[in-house]
Amino acid sequence: MNNNNTQIVTEDLNHIWHPCTQMKDHETLPLIPIKRAKGVYLYDFEDNRYIDAISSWWVNIFGHTNEYISSKVKEQLDTLEHVLLAGFTHKPAVDLANRLVEITPKGLEKVFFADNGSSAVEVALKMSFHYHKNMGENRPLFLSLSNSYHGETIGALSVGDVELYKDTYAPLLISCIQTPVPFDQTIESANIAIKELKKILEKRGSEISAFIIEPLVQGAGYMNMYHPIYITKAKDICQRYGVHLIADEIMTGFGRTGTMFASEQANITPDFMTLSKGLTGGYLPLAVVMTNNTIYNAFYCDYSEYKAFLHSHSYTGNPLACSSALATLDLFQQSDIIGENRKKSAYILEKLEKFKTLPNVKEVRQTGMISAIELKGYKAQERIGLKVYQYGLDNGVLLRPLGHIIYFMPPFIITYKQIDKMIDTAYNAILQL
Ligand SMILES: *Cc1c(COP(=O)(O)O)cnc(C)c1O
Repeated sequence: MNNNNTQIVTEDLNHIWHPCTQMKDHETLPLIPIKRAKGVYLYDFEDNRYIDAISSWWVNIFGHTNEYISSKVKEQLDTLEHVLLAGFTHKPAVDLANRLVEITPKGLEKVFFADNGSSAVEVALKMSFHYHKNMGENRPLFLSLSNSYHGETIGALSVGDVELYKDTYAPLLISCIQTPVPFDQTIESANIAIKELKKILEKRGSEISAFIIEPLVQGAGYMNMYHPIYITKAKDICQRYGVHLIADEIMTGFGRTGTMFASEQANITPDFMTLSKGLTGGYLPLAVVMTNNTIYNAFYCDYSEYKAFLHSHSYTGNPLACSSALATLDLFQQSDIIGENRKKSAYILEKLEKFKTLPNVKEVRQTGMISAIELKGYKAQERIGLKVYQYGLDNGVLLRPLGHIIYFMPPFIITYKQIDKMIDTAYNAILQL
């Protein structure tokens, strides 16, 4: 690594403990210091550039330093940077709540702000449990899909099912059981999974507050994808047992799956919807939990009845974050992003055809602007994901495989030429494994 890059890396390792990282890896695996970014590109201190094929952990849906979003945040910066949201309000929060209610499935009328995805999940879990309690019912259990991921704070971790993140903390977790996720995108496997869901709810439905799902795509769960019919049926069954459905659209929201929200493809309105990641276009941390008036009204009474939802975060509804979210929503209105995405997805899928003939490729799958290539025949210790990652960086593309799954989740502004580069690099990375 050259000098300008080396210096900052050395300084970094003196004091920074990085997320989701075995720090010892950095004895051999160089950190990539990023100086600036524009569009799909990240630039290091030597001006090498990398296509951000994973939208920086799925948040930068319009790429980096977008002129329009930047200008809106700058405007807000000189007007009101922050004020508490208890007892006070401000225009960015009000406008954002209005617009979210407008664009999300009908019936989601109330917006509770949080400042990251995991917190939003915690809020949804607490609200659901508390709703039942306010209604005179004790439902101390949650239900989630096998292989699911909902964040890493204790409550969010409890409803997830990725062993790597969860097992160590097992003694600390709240009660949650899993029902099998459909194992592929066919209607048949959706129906098999629905049978299992029915059995669990028949047996334990009255103990369960909510069933939380990642609709259509399990992101951190190796990009497992399933048919929308599962969600449609699950909503119906949950309703029969008084179990809330929480659609965790933190990753799938804002156009990622081919519609504005994944729940639309199942034609349902969940009882709770959690949103974050793409919400601010990757500018600032913000999250929301949306719910319906029935749930809201179960908390609405005289203070002395002690039914209020007394949950808060310091940065709840931060005006700068809200302004970047509003600007992000503007971008969806200014051009047909979803329509353009459909064309790009089709193009990506066509380009992925040639992967299917490789002997170490098990499956190629896609939902909207998420595409994944599942490799086969490797052991976990081989860390082939790391090899692909390294090859990508050496060739100007940030790929960050999940184990043996190479996936693309690029910013929506990616051009066809950049798509070619991204996919050809992944192809060559697989060839040299
Ligand atoms: C990323 C993610 C979360 C957690 O969000 P953070 O902001 O990282 O805490 C929760 N649910 C899903 C589906 C996610 O993809």
